[in-house]
Amino acid sequence: MLNVKNLHFAYQKTPVLRALNFNIQPGINTAIIGESGSGKSTLLKLLYGEYDLDSGHIFWKDTEILGPKHNLIVGYDFMKYVAQEFNLMPFISVEENIGKHLSNFFPNEKKDRTAELLEVVQLTEFAKTKVKLLSGGQKQRVALARALAQTPEILLLDEPFSHIDNFQKQTLRRRVFNYLKEKNIACLVATHDQEDVLGFADQIIVLNNQTIAAQGKPEDLYKNPESALVAAFFGEFNQIKNQFIYAHQLKMVNKSDIKVMVKNAYFKGSFFLIEASFNSKTIVFEHASKLTKGDIVYLEISK
Ligand code: ADP
Ligand code: MG
Repeated sequence: MLNVKNLHFAYQKTPVLRALNFNIQPGINTAIIGESGSGKSTLLKLLYGEYDLDSGHIFWKDTEILGPKHNLIVGYDFMKYVAQEFNLMPFISVEENIGKHLSNFFPNEKKDRTAELLEVVQLTEFAKTKVKLLSGGQKQRVALARALAQTPEILLLDEPFSHIDNFQKQTLRRRVFNYLKEKNIACLVATHDQEDVLGFADQIIVLNNQTIAAQGKPEDLYKNPESALVAAFFGEFNQIKNQFIYAHQLKMVNKSDIKVMVKNAYFKGSFFLIEASFNSKTIVFEHASKLTKGDIVYLEISK
């Protein structure tokens, strides 16, 4: 397993992470979430051995992950890392990039493996295309396939679907995460996109104020968010009577002690998000139909 013990790290004089402790079992999908600048990318780079820790230890099974001071070549065979800025070779084709680290001694295996990976990232028709001719999202998919080529035991993904358009994102996500489960590859995904997390992550680590602010199963954090930061990750929410109440947990009723005045209604597809004022504060709730500005309505919390 991955074992992080009392990790501390600063860039020169800027402290970024302090006293991190966590374990990750083989085959487990972990989402690292947190605001921009909270240290998600830095954590992945440290796990990959790109920098030296100020103190603490990182182990994968019995191997200690060491930074450049102690390890001449960054990286380990059992671990792959796909950076936010994917470092591909622009002047060779997609399939050559993916096959870069696959042995030429077994040409048939190499061919089959490359075809399988092209299928996973949905780039089969671009196999012969030079990488420099691809869009940002297509390059991101090549980088993913290349990282998977040698079936690592652990995969570090930094905002893996950020450049991919919405038409392909959902199916690609399902394909990639299912593939990782199938091959029992542990994966850490740094993201601020809840779609990368819900339905896929086995556990979530929330970074805030340089440390782990919360950690747990998505369902548990969702039901009991404990902080506004965690609640906000799951969607629109309110703080009512010292509780975090998601917008969809407020229902309109004939009479209640939550009397609000409608300010705005936003079309969201299957519902309208209604903005209303309640005791001079703004609250949000979901409703099946549009409500009119100025309407007085009553709400009830349904959990
Ligand atoms: P995230 O990925 O969560 O957005 P980062 O890990 O990229 O956060 O950054 C964490 C903090 O470290 C930020 O304050 C950022 O400005 C700083 N930082 C990131 N990379 C460097 C670097 N190479 N040198 C100095 N500071 C950095
Ligand atoms: Mg980042």
